[in-house]
Amino acid sequence: MKKCITDYDLNNKKVIIRVDFNVPITDGHITDDNRIKESLKTIKYAIDNKAKVILLSHLGRIKDVSDLEKNDLSIVAIRLSELLFKPVKFVNATRGIDVENTINSMEPGDVVLLQNTRYEDLEGNKESGNDIELGKYWASLGDIFINDAFGTSHRAHASNVGIASNLPNGIGFLVQKELDSMLPVMENPEKPFTLILGGAKVKDKIGLIDNMIDKVDYILIGGGMAYTFLKAKGYNVGSSIIDDESIDYVSNLMNKYSNKIILPIDTLVSIDLEGKTCDTKDINNISSNEIGLDIGPKTIDLFKEYIHQSNTIIMNGPMGMFEKDIYSNGTKEVLSAMMSVKTVIIGGGDTASAAINMGYKNSFTHISTGGGASLELLAGKKLPGIEVIHEK
Ligand code: AMP
Repeated sequence: MKKCITDYDLNNKKVIIRVDFNVPITDGHITDDNRIKESLKTIKYAIDNKAKVILLSHLGRIKDVSDLEKNDLSIVAIRLSELLFKPVKFVNATRGIDVENTINSMEPGDVVLLQNTRYEDLEGNKESGNDIELGKYWASLGDIFINDAFGTSHRAHASNVGIASNLPNGIGFLVQKELDSMLPVMENPEKPFTLILGGAKVKDKIGLIDNMIDKVDYILIGGGMAYTFLKAKGYNVGSSIIDDESIDYVSNLMNKYSNKIILPIDTLVSIDLEGKTCDTKDINNISSNEIGLDIGPKTIDLFKEYIHQSNTIIMNGPMGMFEKDIYSNGTKEVLSAMMSVKTVIIGGGDTASAAINMGYKNSFTHISTGGGASLELLAGKKLPGIEVIHEK
């Protein structure tokens, strides 16, 4: 079992917490502050235990100077301060005298947020390349390191693996919740166990399918990835999205596990992606100019039969192009049907935001905050940001 924040005496200690404040920002406004809220439990615990709290996070990607302004973390310090009901001191630097002076003058219970860790990617990709000196430098600013950024734990960066390699360390409550919610389900799922997959590409989900195929009773396939399966079965899928590289993979899979893999039997189609019109077609009746963009009503009924018999479901990927209202029904219906299932894990990324935005935030066992990280965990891979943390 990994060490966690409660295993340390935080009193008067400089505690560096790697959080995930990678929030969506449009026109200078945070459009979804869920990730900030998810980090509050760990931050408040550190404050209540009289730590000097030093927060590090990335925001977006920094490839050139034009990325700096739009990925400035100062806006997050303002929102965090509102949520904590206390001042959060923002330092517009990732290293140097301002950072060091600010930290040296902290009192127990103070909170400081440094600038976006990926500003260090501008010259030499130091954060994302896990530059050894940078990890050591950041570690030199604190006494204890806590990783509470589940969403980046599948990457070895200076701000997680780099710092953790140089300090006593542990995980925060959010990472603990993610692991505690997902690992037992993977190890000992109550049957019948169903995996529901959707989203754009098969390729991204191959690791997950390979890890789960022998454990699950059924895999329901919707979303864009279904058309690759349907094409491999010989259907004309018109102009729907196809992952050509994965055709051989899905053919082999269907040959070996034909009774486990459940595909759509009808689909909503359109002749463009504008989201203005759509028609319902059985999957053997799609015309060449039509694009499949959501599962149809017969498929929804079929999927519901499997959902209602399941005791455990893991869902990763939306059933259609849910960002457009007209193609969101399949995803909504599947989410709604899963509300009566005993254990449901929603595996991050687009599916998590669909579930939250559609009003299902508190309806399931667990909605993961990490897209790629939850996909890798569920695919049975080790996450470097977690692996580096000491065992109890
Ligand atoms: P992923 O990150 O692989 O889970 O993919 C999520 C994306 O898949 C979302 O942005 C959806 O709009 C997209 N998607 C879902 N269904 C379809 C579809 N039938 N055709 C094209 N894109 C789709």
